[in-house]
Amino acid sequence: MVQEGSSHITLPDTGETIYTKLEINSTKRWKNSPPDNCPDCGHTDVQGVEILGAIDGPLFWECSKCGDRFLRFTKKTTIAYLDKTKDLYIDLEGFDRIWEQIPN
Ligand SMILES: [Zn+2]
Repeated sequence: MVQEGSSHITLPDTGETIYTKLEINSTKRWKNSPPDNCPDCGHTDVQGVEILGAIDGPLFWECSKCGDRFLRFTKKTTIAYLDKTKDLYIDLEGFDRIWEQIPN
């Protein structure tokens, strides 16, 4: 995106680039509730992660031990939801802070 000779311009992240940074590798989905056990490390505490501006309720699941993330929706749907949040912030500096862990 940066043209030679021009100054560097940082574009706001799109849903797709945010998705990439989340590093969700598995395409398997858990639609209504998180997996009982983390598919990667077996830990039993996998929680929903809510992203402000995306949807009400968890957008994806995250293992509290290894930090791996798992889909609740299809990749396409997840990206579409993430896309709704891109106007809320300009860079990922504040990205972690807009996350809210849902209490058990
Ligand atoms: Zn895990």
